Formats: sequence, C-alpha cells, structure tokens
Amino acid sequence: MSGRRSKTKRVLAIVATLLAVLGALLASTFTAKTLSVDETQAITLPAPAAPPAAMRVRALRAGSMSSSAAFAFRGGAFSDERVFSMGGVLVEHPQGRLLFDTGFGRNARTHIEGIPWLMRATTTFELGTPIADQLRASGFDVSTLSGVVPTHVHWDHISGVPDFPGVPIWLPRAEHDFIASGGRASELMRSFGKLEVRPYDFPHGAYLGYPSSFDVFGDASVVLVQAGGHTPGSIIAFITEPSGRKLALIGDLAWQQEGIEQPTERPWVSRMIVDFDAERVREEVAHVHRIQRLIPELIVVPAHEPRAWAKLVQ
Ligand SMILES: [Zn+2]
Repeated sequence: MSGRRSKTKRVLAIVATLLAVLGALLASTFTAKTLSVDETQAITLPAPAAPPAAMRVRALRAGSMSSSAAFAFRGGAFSDERVFSMGGVLVEHPQGRLLFDTGFGRNARTHIEGIPWLMRATTTFELGTPIADQLRASGFDVSTLSGVVPTHVHWDHISGVPDFPGVPIWLPRAEHDFIASGGRASELMRSFGKLEVRPYDFPHGAYLGYPSSFDVFGDASVVLVQAGGHTPGSIIAFITEPSGRKLALIGDLAWQQEGIEQPTERPWVSRMIVDFDAERVREEVAHVHRIQRLIPELIVVPAHEPRAWAKLVQ
C-alpha cells in the first residue's frame, strides 16, 4: 500500500512540476521583450510625392472589438483593456477611389461566429454601421469605387467585401495564392465565392527599404509595398495627402502602436492564432520601426489602433 501511495505521490509531483514549467513558459511569452532591429541596410527617403489638390482621405469606423493589451503586444498588461477599431480608409483620388479594408460588413455577426473560439472567448464585439451603408447615406455611389484594397484577407478586414458587389478586389499574387491554398485564415474570403479580383504586382522601384513597390497613381500619393508575414501577401499602403500629411496603413503588422514604437511582437498565443510567419512579422515590424524613426511625422496606422484612427477621423 505504502509503495503504491509513494508512487502516486511521485507521479503527482512530476505532473505538478510539468504544469508549473508549462505555466511559467506560457507566462514568459507575455513578458516585455523588444525586437532586435537590423540597422545594416540604410533606408533612403523617397522622392517627394505629388498628390493632387483634390485628393481626399477619410477613415470610416464600422465597429470595434475589446480585448486585453496583454494579447496585443508583449509586455501589455492583462488589466489594460484596449479597443480594437474595425473599419476602412477611403482614398479619393481624381484617378480613382480606393477603399483600404472594409472592417465589419453587413453580415459581421455571422462572420464573428466563425472565428477561433479562443479569440471569441477573450474579446467582446461592437458592431457599427457598415462602411457601404455609411457611404450610401452620405450620397457616395459605392459602384464608382475603383477597388477594395485589403491590407490582407483576414475576416475582419474583408467582412464587408460582399457589400460592394461588382467592385474589384485588389490583391497581390501572394495573397491571392494564400486564398486559393485553403486554410482557415482565408476561409471567409473563399466563402464569398467568385469575386472580381484585380491581381497586382509591385512593378516600381525600391521604396523606403522595400525592394519594390506599386505607385498606384504614378504620383507617389499611394504607394503599396509587400510586407508579408502576418499573411503571405500582407501589404503596407504609404499615403501622402495634399496637405503633406503622411500615413502608413500597416494592416495587422502590429495591433497596437506599442508594437511599432518599442518595437515588440504579439505574445505567443496571439502569434499562434493569427500570424502565418512570425519571424517575417518580426522583421517587418522592426523595419517599420526604423521608418518611423527616419520620418517622425509619419502617422503609422495599425488597422485596429484607435489612437491612430483618432488622428485620421475629422
Ligand atoms: Zn489579420
């Protein structure tokens, strides 16, 4: 009897130790840790953009999510409740009108039911007026959009795509392939069926340290670069307004501004759920951190960062 009892005790001790080690490991993934920043390649400033005077940029909110800072960036506190804005940025240029990301669309409630349970369990959602309805209400004919340009195709960035029937969806090849390759992260996009996709490449020169770029209107007012990692074909849109104000729509490279400022990554549990290639995300985050240092006036806009959005919404 006593032999069996001591054996049971030993097993319990081993299980308790293992649980303690696993707990400590998990806890350590939430601790603050800044990313190393590779300074070997110099970043050169691009030639000034020449945005036309009639160009306009509008940030449109379509709801929000709330979660803890601890899930958004390493070192964030569990008690620090953060709002994650959900929306899109409309760029009206005389040569075309583009909507970057859609935020929550008309069927967002159904889309939310499809997200990973862990994210649902740690998040609360607030649905706003879908962007298509906001635009219609303001007299904007959504059929005149030249394109919806997702920063990437995760559900919360493309939930509103079906609200813009007939409007082409602009996608770089890597993101198009990501949708075609299957997998849960791009499931919602596939569920929309056949879409009118306008594939694009990055045919123009190096830009801010990125090897190639896509100068959409030829005046450097809207320059897209490939910054994959969060998804294979994630992009950043660098936008220069007629006022000279500069924006960088970085999608989900970071969820909150601390990610770029420090710079730091998401904690392991968030990376595991949302990032396709965490190492590439680290490199891209560190690169945007360097760009921000080089151009202090640049407004870096993580897609879900309400403090950056507050600067855009007039
Ligand atoms: Zn995402």
